[in-house]
Amino acid sequence: MTDPAAGAAEAPTGAEWAAAVAAVRRLPADARVLLICHVNPDGDALGSMLGFGLGLRRLGVRRLQATFPGPPELPEPFRWLPGRDLLVPQDAAYPDPDLVICFDAASESRLGDLVDRLDTAGTALVLDHHASNTRFGGVNLVDPHAAATSVVAEGLLDRLGVPLDADIAACLYVALSTDTGSFRFEATTPAVHEMAARLLATGIRPGDISQRIYDTRPFGAVRLFGEAIGRARLEPGAAGGRGLVWTYATLDDLARHDQPPYVLEALIDSVRCTAEADVSCVVKQVAATEWAVSLRSKGAVDVSRVAVALGGGGHRFAAGFTGRGSADEVVDRIRAELDEALLPA
Ligand code: AMP
Ligand code: MN
Ligand code: MN
Repeated sequence: MTDPAAGAAEAPTGAEWAAAVAAVRRLPADARVLLICHVNPDGDALGSMLGFGLGLRRLGVRRLQATFPGPPELPEPFRWLPGRDLLVPQDAAYPDPDLVICFDAASESRLGDLVDRLDTAGTALVLDHHASNTRFGGVNLVDPHAAATSVVAEGLLDRLGVPLDADIAACLYVALSTDTGSFRFEATTPAVHEMAARLLATGIRPGDISQRIYDTRPFGAVRLFGEAIGRARLEPGAAGGRGLVWTYATLDDLARHDQPPYVLEALIDSVRCTAEADVSCVVKQVAATEWAVSLRSKGAVDVSRVAVALGGGGHRFAAGFTGRGSADEVVDRIRAELDEALLPA
């Protein structure tokens, strides 16, 4: 788990927890608090942000907003999340909040136009679990051993004396479930299941939640996935012979099937099951010569090394970056980095 090259390899210290608790406790009654998370927010970014926001509301924080960079629409699978009434478009977010709290972003580059709030806010508190986190807040709670940012968020809510309710729990459960691949990844420790047990004890329904976030997709997306999977390529010799499988999807593909970009987030899960490849990759067009790249490894390759080398970041076995040029050029660059990122057998 621990990456010696990373900025934050250890769990938060007692002093860091105390500083985070103090940053919330010392807020005056009329303080403005802004919650932000990374661009193209996923289940952990949204779930930890909204769950924590509901906790702050229980503490009596009244002037409270949540936002994220880019278009304000939530991906359909997350549109039911409790706490969504806290969301405002980024242009409407407090320009100089008393406290800004940032969720699930490893670096400032993931905050788009909201990055200025780190300077304009009275205090900037960072909650995250990426080993590569650059500790860009005034107060940092970064636990690279945590399976999700929601683990850190729950830890802070607990220290603030906020009890879990079903709404908070639903948000934190979405975050924990999505970042552990439905409790399948290696990060699924006893502590993860203990946290899941605390969340489920509030009465939330895991079957309903899973159906909404994993098992519901428009028919157009099903057909689009079929096309993208149909043109996947397997390169058994890549990554030192451990194998690479990859595919791509273009803006034209999305338009033909009348689908929004977020539906492609799940495509990597249909590709990474390929038995013959350790590494999987999906290259998703976001502009004429710009691609959002998802990388996964089954354990032979540190894909965060590949992603960081190409300007992105992430975790050892799940990482991403923004690629430029054609899809083939982007994959050429990945291929060249893969051999450097092989882990000791
Ligand atoms: P994804 O493939 O989008 O599900 O992302 C997998 C992991 O890589 C997540 O932990 C992200 O935080 C990280 N990641 C994805 N894209 C980027 C990027 N452009 N820059 C930094 N980290 C990224
Ligand atoms: Mn995330
Ligand atoms: Mn996360």
